[in-house]
Amino acid sequence: MVSLSSVCVYCGSSSLVNDVYKDAARQLGTGLARSGVRLVYGGGRVGLMGLVANAALAAGGRVTGIIPDHIRALEVGHDALSELLVVDSMHERKRLMVDHSDAFVVLPGGFGTLDEAFEVVTWKQLRLHDKPIIIADIAGYWAPLVKLMEHITAEGFVSGGYQRLFTVVRDIDGVLDALQSRPESAPPPRSVSL
Ligand code: AMP
Repeated sequence: MVSLSSVCVYCGSSSLVNDVYKDAARQLGTGLARSGVRLVYGGGRVGLMGLVANAALAAGGRVTGIIPDHIRALEVGHDALSELLVVDSMHERKRLMVDHSDAFVVLPGGFGTLDEAFEVVTWKQLRLHDKPIIIADIAGYWAPLVKLMEHITAEGFVSGGYQRLFTVVRDIDGVLDALQSRPESAPPPRSVSL
C-alpha cells in the first residue's frame, strides 16, 4: 500500500447489525492504521463508522472525518479524530471525501453507503477520477448487489463490464491486498454507441 496515503471508507451508520460486520470494520481500521494509511470517513461515532475510526485511532492511525453541520448531532460527530472537517452539505462532504482520498472501500451499509459508493463508481465511469474502489463483500452482504451488477452488465447498460470500475473481495485481508495491488486502475472505455 506504499503509494496510497489515504483511503476513504464508506459504511453503515447503524449499530443494530451482525457482529461479523462490526468485526470487519474494526479489522479494516486497524489494518489501515498499521499500513500507515490515513482513514477518511464520514466523521460520525455511530455504527460501523465509529468502529472503523476508533480502531484506526487505537492502532495509532490518522483519521480525517468529514461531516455536514446539520447531521453532526444525528451521527454524533466524533470528537477525538486527528482532523474533523465540518461542511455545509452532503454534496460538499462527498466531494471532499473523494478529493482527500487515494482509494475507496465500501463496507456493508445502508442507503447512504450505497449513494456514496455509486457516486464514486459513476464518477470513475465518467473519468472524473481513476482511483481504486474496493467493495468488501463481508459474509456475502453485497452478493445481491453483485448479482444486480451482472444483470446490468449483461443487459448492456455498462460498457466494458463493471469489473473495470470496482473490485469485489470477500474479507478485510482481501481489501488490504487489493489496495496494495491497485486493481482496476485503467480507465474504462467510454460508451459511444447510440
Ligand atoms: P447508511 O449507510 O444509510 O447508514 O449511511 C452511511 C453514511 O451515508 C452516513 O454518514 C450518512 O450520513 C450518509 N448518507 C445518508 N444519506 C445520504 C445521501 N443521500 N447522500 C450521501 N450520503 C448519505
